[in-house]
Amino acid sequence: MGPVTCPECAAPVLPPARTCPRCGYPLAPPPPTEAETREMRAGAAAAKIVAVLLVLYMLGVAGTFVYDHLL
Ligand SMILES: [Zn+2]
Repeated sequence: MGPVTCPECAAPVLPPARTCPRCGYPLAPPPPTEAETREMRAGAAAAKIVAVLLVLYMLGVAGTFVYDHLL
């Protein structure tokens, strides 16, 4: 990303600056708050649990299939 022009005062803003050095206009959304970060971590943990349950379910299906056809 090259320099960005401030939409408020048209001053060039060089990355990684998040605010215009001249007028302080915010060019990028602020970093996530602590609560939002915690929420994202909870979401990732939930996704992991779902993935593990899915694997266990598929193993169970495969096991049932083997059981039904080989025994
Ligand atoms: Zn500005």
